[in-house]
Amino acid sequence: MFEIEVTGRQVLITGLDATMPAHIAALIRDGARVTVAVAVEELSTSLKDLVHRGLISHDPDPQGSYDLVIAPRPAPAAPDPDPADAVATGSGVGRVTLVGGGPGDPGLITVAGLRALREADVVVTDRLVPQECLAEIPAHAEVIDVAKIPRGEQTSQERINALLIDRARPGRHVVRFKGGDPYVFGRGGEEVVALTEAGIPVTVIPGVTSSIAAPELAGIPVTHRGLTQGFTVVSGHVAPGDPRSTVDWSALARTGTTLVVLMGVHTLRRICARLVDDGLDPALPAATIADAGLAGQRIVRATLGALPDAVEAAGIGSPAVTVIGAVAGGRLPATTDLAERGLVR
Ligand code: SAH
Repeated sequence: MFEIEVTGRQVLITGLDATMPAHIAALIRDGARVTVAVAVEELSTSLKDLVHRGLISHDPDPQGSYDLVIAPRPAPAAPDPDPADAVATGSGVGRVTLVGGGPGDPGLITVAGLRALREADVVVTDRLVPQECLAEIPAHAEVIDVAKIPRGEQTSQERINALLIDRARPGRHVVRFKGGDPYVFGRGGEEVVALTEAGIPVTVIPGVTSSIAAPELAGIPVTHRGLTQGFTVVSGHVAPGDPRSTVDWSALARTGTTLVVLMGVHTLRRICARLVDDGLDPALPAATIADAGLAGQRIVRATLGALPDAVEAAGIGSPAVTVIGAVAGGRLPATTDLAERGLVR
């Protein structure tokens, strides 16, 4: 994305605007060391998450020297909603497009998803989207970050639903931008129900889900002839035995399918122990893939029994996908960065 060489360079960001998160994502991908110098209240939850994950630094009062200083462009005045927009939708109300952005690499959004972003008046975005794609939105568009960080800051689903309705009503095209696929642990269905009940037309554009793409980017096919005839995707956000869990872990251990666990970093130890208790071989191959499709993509391979210690030793945090089964023992090549291969941009 940048014409200048930024690898290893110290880059200072002195202010934020709608597209700065996209530039920051591109800088990280290109190997720059990014420091954001704004007051903590100005940091969006997605940027706080990048700080928390050690991918950028935050320093409201930087003293050191920097190779490059980037300031935001002055913001254009926000236009009043144009009544012509309402006419264009043919209904007097606006519309919402749910876009699945894929796991994080800007090359893994769909053509339809990218087109919707380019035609958005408002983008309601999240932490796991391919941030670089935000550079594609029109200059007049409003960007609202409603990231939810595990055990961190939250915007309630009710507030997000209300926000989508509020922004679409005057006749705007609102894009609800989500990581992966909107209907895989993305609460997309709830948003579609709320919008439909409010009489607002909504379209859903599927995305590449991390449940398949994260293993795939690590060189692990979720199915492989001769090894497994299927895969099962579950959420690990509540541990086995937790009264809120509705997953039948004993049944999972007997499926003979590849098991894929999302949102399961925090509960990994209890999940692996339970699967072994329920009869899975502790020597079964397994892998945890963190930040798949991002510059910091990491792959930890171990047996099912040894995986929790290996993941802890590697300091892996969310977001990560764990894959358990014979397919995790293969040695197909991992894909680290599509841009590096000249496949995007
Ligand atoms: N709708 C998303 C999933 C949302 S739930 C999808 O289809 O991919 C959030 C979980 O998805 C994370 O806790 C993690 O388990 C997984 N995830 C999303 N993006 C990821 C990425 N780039 N690398 C690894 N795991 C990811």
